[in-house]
Amino acid sequence: MPVTVVDHPLAQHLLASLRDRNTPPPLFRTITKRLTIALMLEAVRGLPTVEVEVETPLEPATGRRVYPDLVAVPILRAGLGMLEAVTELFPEISVGYVGLERDEVTLEPASYYEKLPPVEGRHVLVLDPMLATGGSAVKACTNIATKGPAQVIFVSVVSAPEGLARMEREHPAVEIYTASIDRELNSNGYILPGLGDFGDRLFGTEPHSGLNRPSE
Ligand code: URA
Repeated sequence: MPVTVVDHPLAQHLLASLRDRNTPPPLFRTITKRLTIALMLEAVRGLPTVEVEVETPLEPATGRRVYPDLVAVPILRAGLGMLEAVTELFPEISVGYVGLERDEVTLEPASYYEKLPPVEGRHVLVLDPMLATGGSAVKACTNIATKGPAQVIFVSVVSAPEGLARMEREHPAVEIYTASIDRELNSNGYILPGLGDFGDRLFGTEPHSGLNRPSE
């Protein structure tokens, strides 16, 4: 399974801010968007392009455009933080959603929502910032794979070795792009050192998300 760690200094600079517990949700959202753009630059490197003719103000020129048949699938809810970057880069992209939540006892994903556009023969970008146990990633990729996509590309911010190993076993053809492979999972399935609960930090839904509320 091809795994690319995007070690560009800008990506690593942005990742350090996301890890910082003092980064509040508004800034966390902005940085997530910027880092997603950096990840996407690598993730779409291998996509097919088509040759196009354009007129410059001076003369005809040959250019290349990314093959337009793309689908983005953020895994709810944390993947939503990566979506806007992708739709800005590819305004014509189709967007589907997979809602998976982790059972806190078994740590396995349970599906509560799925709305996918046709994916047959298309290039699908699955967006999930934390590839932890791999349960959600595997389930989302399995659901998509049954519908016959041309290619599935998984884009995450931080990955755990355990999640990568599970993806390798169950979806060896999926390409993975991530800003970091961290050390390990803790007993609650959180990535160490990680950055905490991505969804909570993105949406400001827990007291230690970094948001300075007057009552705290
Ligand atoms: N999901 C998160 O948001 N963080 C982790 O560390 C693992 C899964």
